[in-house]
Amino acid sequence: MLKLERVSLNYGSFRALSDISLQARDGELVVLLGANGAGKSSIFRAASGLEVATGHIRFGTHELIGLRPSQIVQAGVVHCPEGRKLFPGMSVLRNLVLGAYVHRADRAGNRRRLEEIFGLFPILDQKKDDPAGSLSGGQQQMVAIGRAMMGRPRALLLDEPSLGLAPLVVRQMFEVIQQINRAGTTVLLAEQNAFAALKVAHRAYVLELGRVVLEGDSDALLRNPDIRRAYIGA
Ligand code: ATP
Repeated sequence: MLKLERVSLNYGSFRALSDISLQARDGELVVLLGANGAGKSSIFRAASGLEVATGHIRFGTHELIGLRPSQIVQAGVVHCPEGRKLFPGMSVLRNLVLGAYVHRADRAGNRRRLEEIFGLFPILDQKKDDPAGSLSGGQQQMVAIGRAMMGRPRALLLDEPSLGLAPLVVRQMFEVIQQINRAGTTVLLAEQNAFAALKVAHRAYVLELGRVVLEGDSDALLRNPDIRRAYIGA
């Protein structure tokens, strides 16, 4: 289980997260909804050790606050950041392999994992020698997810994977996310695309101005008129 307990985060004097408590149980797909600036990325940055928050972020027996990012990956929590953050001039393959940095001693394991990722995204196998920056937006997002999967997450933090993608590509992206989750990876997903995310998620939290204002099963939130008005536009 990935569990945040009373997590707060300041940028200088600005409080981005206030007493956030939320959890993703093993095997769950949990979505974080909220407008721009609600604090979704800040939660991921705190959980992956890029920002130092207060409170507790526990994963299994590990306390993540205070660990270095590489130690957090080793503990099983891997962050796929918003905006993909690929190295555009490097090949698809090299971008993918970078995600396995903490497992670099296990070359056979990394080769197996790479084959699994090519199974998930066959187009990346075809384009493995191409510069990552030459791929379409959807394919680049696949590289970003594939790179995170090379870190062998037991919990995957996915920040806005559908951002800027065409509707058909978004649908495919959510299918793959669901496939990753069904194969046993816990997923915490930040999304603006509330309808598509709630359709695949088990549960969701709604954030406003750095606080959790609502939580519930996805089905219940999909029926909630306030959620429909604010995030789905129906
Ligand atoms: P988005 O989808 O736009 O990334 P978000 O819900 O992920 O939104 P965050 O990126 O976590 O929101 O931002 C939460 C708040 O913290 C926002 O008001 C943002 O302007 C602020 N913020 C984020 N990063 C920094 C930073 N490095 N320095 C100062 N303020 C920041």
